[in-house]
Amino acid sequence: MPIITTNKALSGILDQHSAALAAHERMPEAEIRARINQGTLTLLANPAHKNVRPTLIGQPARVKVNANIGTSPLASGLAEETDKLKVAETAGADAVMDLSTAGDLDAIRVRMLSETPLPLGTVPIYAVAGACAKDGRDPSGFEPAELINEIKKQAEQGVDFVTVHCGLTKRGAELAMDGSRMLGIVSRGGAILARWMRRTGQENPLLTHYDEILDIAREHNLVLSLGDGLRPGAGCDAGDPAQWEEVLTLGVLAKRAWAAGVQVMIEGPGHVPLHLVQSQIQGIKRATFGAPLYVLGPLVTDTAAGRDHIAGAIGGALATQYGADFLCYLTPAEHLCLPDAKDVYEGVQASRIAAQAGEAALGRPWAVEREHEMSDARMKLDWKRMADTALDPCLVRARSQGTEHGKECGMCGKFCAIRMAEPEV
Ligand code: SF4
Repeated sequence: MPIITTNKALSGILDQHSAALAAHERMPEAEIRARINQGTLTLLANPAHKNVRPTLIGQPARVKVNANIGTSPLASGLAEETDKLKVAETAGADAVMDLSTAGDLDAIRVRMLSETPLPLGTVPIYAVAGACAKDGRDPSGFEPAELINEIKKQAEQGVDFVTVHCGLTKRGAELAMDGSRMLGIVSRGGAILARWMRRTGQENPLLTHYDEILDIAREHNLVLSLGDGLRPGAGCDAGDPAQWEEVLTLGVLAKRAWAAGVQVMIEGPGHVPLHLVQSQIQGIKRATFGAPLYVLGPLVTDTAAGRDHIAGAIGGALATQYGADFLCYLTPAEHLCLPDAKDVYEGVQASRIAAQAGEAALGRPWAVEREHEMSDARMKLDWKRMADTALDPCLVRARSQGTEHGKECGMCGKFCAIRMAEPEV
């Protein structure tokens, strides 16, 4: 049964927005529907998220960028996170994830949903673990029903996509913790679930209750972002048995979701050395039957702390070239502290550069046209058009201030190569 037929919430959104989506993505409406039904294209839009901008993730739609924001127990609050949300929008993010783990999580989430048209994602297990900690329980001391109820509540609130680590099995967790990895489990959600399995001796509740999650997701067109709880957290762990054990399970779960009329994305690494990015991206795509791939970076070196947005953008550009669909940004604060508004801005810009570079390499018309437009503007020393075409127009305007149309900038002054090539008058 095609996904759209079973998923009434999705069908309603598509009927309303498919013409605009087709124009934006330069794809025929029929192709969008066909690819959604195949599962290779996913539409982020929960009808309960008022004014949401429906956003397509997957081939051959435009590569999108996500910004993670949210409170931590050590820093920040609602006002700061709302400010970061606006900064992410201004910088050009296509989606945001609220990863808050402190404060009134419902109030923060509902406020973000009311403030932004961007699809909003969450990691529901954070709220459940937070509630446990507040009650004096172990963060993994929850009952499966609490987790399912949290997913249901967030779907009703209007959350557009949730990270659920359904593919993390007991076997996978054992493989990641048997001492062969440099860095065990680095996913917060993955670590909580691994602890839950170790404590109870039972299989992952997100896996054993997967059918219940599918029912909730179908009703609200909640996209399941099947999380990579065992993603490599060190370059030398990339591609190990634990990672692939989870990836193979995610492929099986993607098929089950599609059969139930539910849209999914697959989450990907993580820390991946430059020479392994191609095999990682193509391997994950193949093992998950072409489902849209949402990558964190990937970070091509473990040594760029303080500038991990650059390490992530290098990996993101390559990943885009090899088939990744959705880039989760990294900020200069990664591995160090909670990002501030400036970090959010820089992170989004870095990922947008990665997407532009990767898509230009793929010959995607919008990316190639942008490259040509900029080169033509440069040749004509058209500073307004250069700013308008740049990924960060404000920055270009600020740094080229005072440079007149048709005139050289301050970089080479009277030795301007472009002006020297002009015919003498
Ligand atoms: S001065 Fe140099 S950098 Fe500036 S426009 Fe001319 S060639 Fe380009």
